[in-house]
Amino acid sequence: MQDTLTILERLCAFDTTSHKSNQDCVEYCRHLLVSAGFDITVLPNADGTKANLHAVAGHKDGPALVLAGHTDVVPVDGQNWSTDPFKLTQRDGNLFARGTTDMKGFVAVALSVATNLNLDALGLSLHLVLTHDEETGCFGARDISDYLRSVIPAESFCMVGEPTDLRPVVAHKGIIGLRATVNGSEGHAATIATKTNAIHYASDLVQYLMQQEQVYAAKPAQDGYDTPYSTIQVGLIRGGQARNMIAKQCTLEFEFRHLPDNPSKSFMTNLETFLSTDLRPGLNRNDDEASIQIEILSHVPAFKAREPSGFLPVLQADPRAAKVKFWDGVTEAGYYQNAGLDTVVCGPGSISQAHQPDEYVSEKDLHECEDFLHRLISRLGAT
Ligand SMILES: [Zn+2]
Repeated sequence: MQDTLTILERLCAFDTTSHKSNQDCVEYCRHLLVSAGFDITVLPNADGTKANLHAVAGHKDGPALVLAGHTDVVPVDGQNWSTDPFKLTQRDGNLFARGTTDMKGFVAVALSVATNLNLDALGLSLHLVLTHDEETGCFGARDISDYLRSVIPAESFCMVGEPTDLRPVVAHKGIIGLRATVNGSEGHAATIATKTNAIHYASDLVQYLMQQEQVYAAKPAQDGYDTPYSTIQVGLIRGGQARNMIAKQCTLEFEFRHLPDNPSKSFMTNLETFLSTDLRPGLNRNDDEASIQIEILSHVPAFKAREPSGFLPVLQADPRAAKVKFWDGVTEAGYYQNAGLDTVVCGPGSISQAHQPDEYVSEKDLHECEDFLHRLISRLGAT
């Protein structure tokens, strides 16, 4: 039996930056949960370097509650930390280390609450789901969603404990990340009239993307997002060799952060129409070999709580979580929703601390979350 702070200290000591393995961290969680009587399934990723974990215990025929969190954290490289980011430091009621807010704090609370329960008396079936690679594109949640669909009854409640100040997030945007590679001609700048410059056509694509964003901005959502419409952002452009050479290749990386009501499918269909009717004819005017390819680099689905959701009123019955909110960030919630679970994002700490140097969560927030989970579990177990 361990308390939240002891568990958090151990979790933070594992450097689970997304590009590194999370297996030691998962093994620690597995051990804790097995000792407490949970049944565990560890699901390695394709190359065996990382793992997801599913744990279950309690009353098999009762209602099911899933507590979901990710084990990976963002890098600390280039950040100016005043404490060791992988050593939990307590100061003035706050707990500093990478991942304390996003989201090892919630994972520690979930593990502490779960492993201190009297499982024989539990009136519900309690699941814990821990994933890898959330920060790089929710790949762990993507990989585990089919498995969850097969082992957790549809309609079960799922709480994704991202740092929302314990307010239920009922919708957030999705992201599709893309790369466009434009291949043009080689040659002396003086021959451009008969050749194809890849940068020029990549610029046409940027122009198109900015026009599309204006279309989305003209129809903002009524909800409470900070930016109430879908946005498009070109984050990287690379191309050309010298001022007096025709640019043979140009690469763009961009993303579409879309509201649940602007699915990425229609964005992709419109993009393909622009490429085939506008961009490619010009691209091939002087050069049959010139081309543009689009690759999807990552895709995290948008999330919208069920309407009506059975879970949301249960959460809101607790005064601490009475008010819902909308988020501009993304989470794994869309994957859990797609796995059939009645999902809400709700967890301790503030997103403003996430990914920052000297990231922290307050002890008070973690204790409030402990109490919140205890109340939730007893309410669900009593029904
Ligand atoms: Zn997170």
